Amino acid sequence: MADRVADLAAAETRALVRTVAGLLTTDGQAGVLEAIERAAQACAATIGLAAIAGVINWAGEQVPARAGCPREPTHTGRLVGRRPRTIRTLLGLLGISRGYYHCGSCQHAGGSGGFAPLDVVLGVTGSSLSPGLARAAALAGAEMPYAKGFTFIGTVTRQLVFGTQDTRSIHAHVVPDPAEYRGDAHCHP
Ligand SMILES: [Zn+2]
Repeated sequence: MADRVADLAAAETRALVRTVAGLLTTDGQAGVLEAIERAAQACAATIGLAAIAGVINWAGEQVPARAGCPREPTHTGRLVGRRPRTIRTLLGLLGISRGYYHCGSCQHAGGSGGFAPLDVVLGVTGSSLSPGLARAAALAGAEMPYAKGFTFIGTVTRQLVFGTQDTRSIHAHVVPDPAEYRGDAHCHP
């Protein structure tokens, strides 16, 4: 897997060098450096995402038949299967596939019963935003009006944030409230 990522990184880097060389030969065009920066940013994000997805999906393949319930240490969940989901990160969309479990005791108590241990490890239970992107959006939101903050994050990271789930996640990073966070942690597939 590391070799595959390294091959991809080499190909992406060669393509970037050709792109930069092409941009520089364009006579007197405004915004050349910004175009170069954007191309380099996209290249770095592609390589970074490939490395992250490779490692996380390797971790997602480790699916024991049972796993401890994150809501109650005395509970045990049964493996339902591997389920895919997409997380928005500082680098772009990250597609992962991980074990999804069902806790009968939580469902008896009126909860959804579903959980994914890898989501808990990554800090993305109940949120489609990575903690890093949520924190960046929260910091921007604290310094400027909400809509402007989203535009700012979009310009810097090239990622968009929206939706009520995202907003909850962003709030969780503005005022960390462990009790609220736990209450929010209904596990979504
Ligand atoms: Zn449980």
